[in-house]
Amino acid sequence: MTETELTLIPDFDLSGRNTLALKAASRFGVVLETTESIAALFALAEARGLPLRILGGGSNVVLAPEFDGITAIIASKGKFLVENTDGHVVVEAAAGEVWHDFVGWTVAQGFGGIENLAGIPGTVGAAPVQNIGAYGAEVADVFESLVAFDTKTRSLRTFALDECAFAYRDSVFKHEPGRYVVVSLRLRLKKPWTPNLRFAGLSELADLPRLDPKAVMERVVAIRNSKLPDWRVTPNAGSFFQNPIVSLEEVTPLLARFPNAPNFSQADGRTKLSAGWLIEQSGLKGFRLGKAGVSDRHALVVINLGGAAAEDIAALAAHIKATVMERFGIALHEEPVFT
Ligand SMILES: Cc1cc2nc3c(=O)[nH]c(=O)nc-3n(C[C@H](O)[C@H](O)[C@H](O)COP(=O)(O)OP(=O)(O)OC[C@H]3O[C@@H](n4cnc5c(N)ncnc54)[C@H](O)[C@@H]3O)c2cc1C
Repeated sequence: MTETELTLIPDFDLSGRNTLALKAASRFGVVLETTESIAALFALAEARGLPLRILGGGSNVVLAPEFDGITAIIASKGKFLVENTDGHVVVEAAAGEVWHDFVGWTVAQGFGGIENLAGIPGTVGAAPVQNIGAYGAEVADVFESLVAFDTKTRSLRTFALDECAFAYRDSVFKHEPGRYVVVSLRLRLKKPWTPNLRFAGLSELADLPRLDPKAVMERVVAIRNSKLPDWRVTPNAGSFFQNPIVSLEEVTPLLARFPNAPNFSQADGRTKLSAGWLIEQSGLKGFRLGKAGVSDRHALVVINLGGAAAEDIAALAAHIKATVMERFGIALHEEPVFT
């Protein structure tokens, strides 16, 4: 594809392309369906002196009302079975595939390994960026490799697991924002399948006479639906804050004052706290500030009450952080990207 074949859409409306339903537009927008078009777009943006921003499903972003550049929607499709041995399968999907559909596709073939990650909105390409996780699993657990377009070298690069620096909601792709555009992802799913039922709500599935990945996927989706507000009805971006991981010096006085605070020891000696618990115990569940609010179903979810803009979300987030800091002395960090 050449630069001239790319269709730049002026005054590109993004209001329907972000799960917080923020009113947002971009000077230009483009929907990218092929890997070749990514390289062509970067050349075009450079030639025209326009900043370029990548978007998948818009489920982990707080969009500014106006972006004076090009917003590229990654929409490449394709799901493949790459390898099938007695010990594992390797599956691949293009970055623009819907993550949940990819999970469903693996499960429909009887392959287990990512069923605990069912129901997470967004695209396959964004999944490794923040190493999506839920119900005791994360993408890093099954990661085989990915291909990304390196905007610095203008070439494709394959990343192996040890090059991704995966951590809790983190990866190398977050460290250098905008440098890499993920174009495809490969996962290695082990055979025979071992269900991961450690998470509350899943453990009782162990009593079923016959358990398969589909049953776990369905239970995960049912739990998610019962806990989280549906973004199509109540616009939100999922968990708005990361669970803070704190040092022994920070956690010791906290647990002395609040012995019932949920806390989880990490391999590196630090402790993970529950951001939702900290917010709820700060009295903020259901709290409203202007057009933004904290869900009354889940304290970790910030919602658009109707007509909110990025600044409304930012003001509420600042209030939550200040309140939690004042009560517990713990710093919260936003999970979605402000862009
Ligand atoms: C209701 C709800 C529930 C959620 N639950 C969870 C959960 O359980 N666990 C969890 O981890 N997350 C969860 N999320 C957050 C979100 O779904 C994930 O972060 C998801 O991976 C974002 O995908 P996206 O395509 O929507 O990314 P976007 O929001 O479009 O983009 C997010 C960031 O990734 C970048 N990006 C997008 N695509 C690419 C690409 N191909 N290459 C490089 N960078 C890219 C963007 O530039 C942006 O910086 C939830 C969100 C919602 C709304």
